[in-house]
Amino acid sequence: MPLILPDVFQQEIVMLKMPIDRNFQKTWKKSGQHRDHAIWQSETSQLGIHGTRVAVDFDECTGCLKCITVCPEDVFEQWEDESGQIKADPVRETACLDCLACELVCPEDAICIIQASTKSDTLSALLD
Ligand code: SF4
Ligand code: SF4
Repeated sequence: MPLILPDVFQQEIVMLKMPIDRNFQKTWKKSGQHRDHAIWQSETSQLGIHGTRVAVDFDECTGCLKCITVCPEDVFEQWEDESGQIKADPVRETACLDCLACELVCPEDAICIIQASTKSDTLSALLD
């Protein structure tokens, strides 16, 4: 018999937050372009991941703008959709210095910095 949860629990499940998928380059597909960066989609994503070198998962980003404040290279710009949702858009991803400040301050774990030289996840490479 299927488990039927009360509405309040179902809403909580829908709103569960997940960190950005650090393997997105292997498991997600490029679906288009926004300004100068790619948009990546998975089977379950909605807004998708914006950027490749500096990747921001728009479905997880809550628009707190902490990454914009700390970035020394002004990589991000505030972006707002028609419904008023605010996101950090990596409009100048090629200027990234791999300092990882944005990843460290992001409360949603929505950012992944990819090394230009190795194309691998910078944080994982440093921890290896
Ligand atoms: S890693 Fe540093 S330079 Fe690159 S986007 Fe983040 S804060 Fe900016
Ligand atoms: S710090 Fe994270 S949640 Fe806040 S705007 Fe940047 S990407 Fe979005």
